[in-house]
Amino acid sequence: MKKYIIPLLMLIIFESIAITLYITTKNIFYLFNFSYIGICLSFGIFLYIRKVKYARNMIQFAVGSYMLIYLGVFNLENMQIEGFWYYLFLGVFEAALIHYFVAKILGPLFFGRGWCGYACWTAMILDLLPFKEPKNPRKKIKFMPYIIFISSFLYVGGLFILKFDNLESIMLWSFILGNLIYYSIGVYLAYNFFDNRSFCKYICPVTVFLKPASYFSLIRVKNDLSKCIGCNKCKKVCPMDVDVVNNSRNRENGTDCILCLKCIEECPKQSLYI
Ligand code: SF4
Ligand code: SF4
Repeated sequence: MKKYIIPLLMLIIFESIAITLYITTKNIFYLFNFSYIGICLSFGIFLYIRKVKYARNMIQFAVGSYMLIYLGVFNLENMQIEGFWYYLFLGVFEAALIHYFVAKILGPLFFGRGWCGYACWTAMILDLLPFKEPKNPRKKIKFMPYIIFISSFLYVGGLFILKFDNLESIMLWSFILGNLIYYSIGVYLAYNFFDNRSFCKYICPVTVFLKPASYFSLIRVKNDLSKCIGCNKCKKVCPMDVDVVNNSRNRENGTDCILCLKCIEECPKQSLYI
């Protein structure tokens, strides 16, 4: 039963958010939105625990395409980083802002970078590419996420300062074109670095938000050192190059863990656990 605590915890967290937002905003959308995401996540993790193949990919598509297509394209909510700045500057507490606070700013205190493992619409495509285990050592490229993060802030700030009057349509096109650019760069890097998650490691501006709270994440992979034989199989399969053998929060690439649980699956001594 203990292993079903994580899906249950996920459901409780998301239902609490759904009910709280519904009560405070009186907007039924939040009840639907966060209940849907919570059910997808908890049911998907339940399937994963039951060893259903591709369970994680199924969750990624259920949540990721809902956000990309339903919220992004049909509801005209720019869910990318520029959408965050846009709604922040407008002073409107809309879906994109709430989404960032829940999934990317405060949520990681509980579930680390679960967003990246189970919900991101960019990674849902990149994870289908053939390089699931990185073939080469990680490159020392660290500045790009910060440059894109600051550029998106300046871009949206500039639109407000220059008083463009068709901001909604600019935001929609920024969202569509931005995603096309992200997918193209992501696929290009994956094939060049033989690593599906190169985009996440070297480009994604959202990591500027995700990493700090992930450091303190309640849910994290730990190692029972009394069982570990140091075979390093877990490190080999980790798509994010986390030194998961080391229990410290300062472990190498520790704030990159996407909770894919590959390492736990691979460990021959069952020494890794959540
Ligand atoms: S790092 Fe960025 S692109 Fe990768 S999964 Fe996380 S949010 Fe998505
Ligand atoms: S393999 Fe383990 S350490 Fe690496 S990202 Fe997945 S859960 Fe985290």
